[in-house]
Amino acid sequence: MAKDPVRVLVTGAAGQIGYALVPLIARGAMLGPDQPVILHMLDIVPAAESLNGVKMELVDAAFPLLKGVLATTDVVEACTGVNIAVMVGGFPRKEGMERKDVMSKNVSIYKSQASALEKHAATNCKVLVVANPANTNALILKEFAPSIPEKNITCLTRLDHNRALGQISERLNIHVSNLRNAIIWGNHSSTQYPDVSHATVTTQDGEKPVHELVADEGWLRGDFITTVQQRGAAIIKARKFSSALSAASSACDHIRDWVLGTPQGTWVSMGVYSDGSYDVPAGLIYSFPVTCVNGEWCIVQGLQIDEFSRKKLDATAEELTEEKALAYSCLA
Ligand code: NDP
Repeated sequence: MAKDPVRVLVTGAAGQIGYALVPLIARGAMLGPDQPVILHMLDIVPAAESLNGVKMELVDAAFPLLKGVLATTDVVEACTGVNIAVMVGGFPRKEGMERKDVMSKNVSIYKSQASALEKHAATNCKVLVVANPANTNALILKEFAPSIPEKNITCLTRLDHNRALGQISERLNIHVSNLRNAIIWGNHSSTQYPDVSHATVTTQDGEKPVHELVADEGWLRGDFITTVQQRGAAIIKARKFSSALSAASSACDHIRDWVLGTPQGTWVSMGVYSDGSYDVPAGLIYSFPVTCVNGEWCIVQGLQIDEFSRKKLDATAEELTEEKALAYSCLA
């Protein structure tokens, strides 16, 4: 029997990531090849015409799984009945703007969208925040949508996770599908800590630790980390636009693994509400290694954290604590 359609909200849907993301959702890359979807696309009034153009293209693509498309500038209409919300829209940092000005704009956007989701989304709606500062936008959303369980509000660090896997696969000249269990700790910013000290490679002789195969701690603690941290800037330099294809693809990976589950023995990175695991302050949205079963994520416990990693985990937590304080000062 055909499944009931799932309603998926994409905010900022007329933007670059939105444009790359909606066809992936309509093709089943996010929720599976047998799951019909209804897309709710939200953007701001100046982008309304462009948003309508995206809707026209979705109609023209005749996606079999796409059972309806709503394109709107009305936040209440956009949020009504949605089961999944992917928050891509946000105010970009423009030349001459202070960090506090950008934060202030985004805090007010996420506060109002939180209220609309809280009142109008379907029960148990799952939320993924992509727009930067992603972790702190997610925290604000959590604060202003208190009836949405905190476990349902997450932010995207899967692109950074996938970038880490990509760098190791290039270095070892192996296919990325033979590689698993990288970790992104902390903030989706340049203080994030890409960590492959627990990652492994499937070889003909069984699972081997990445650090054993790479056999170059200097690279793993140096250039590998900075390359992943600065990959977004490298793409802007090469393409003259920020990453959109890979951001959209990793947003699909995030929701797919959350809803459909992570493969046995594999974890992924998600920005989630900290419960104090690994001595990360509780009450931040922080990226951890997680496994997902039956639509619920769970932080992987018991990993050894050496002194080098401890410093990195603390530094990115410190930045998030400062961002949180800045966001609250904007609210006041
Ligand atoms: P993009 O679609 O390129 O990016 C959207 C957001 O995702 C930005 O905040 C961007 O952050 C963030 N992002 C997170 N991870 C990545 C990544 N790896 N690579 C690139 N971006 C990443 O931006 P556009 O300007 O093309 O589109 C934004 C849309 O949002 C527009 O359609 C606009 O109309 C809408 N918008 C909505 C607002 C609202 O809801 N009130 C306010 C302003 C705009 P970063 O900026 O750091 O690259």
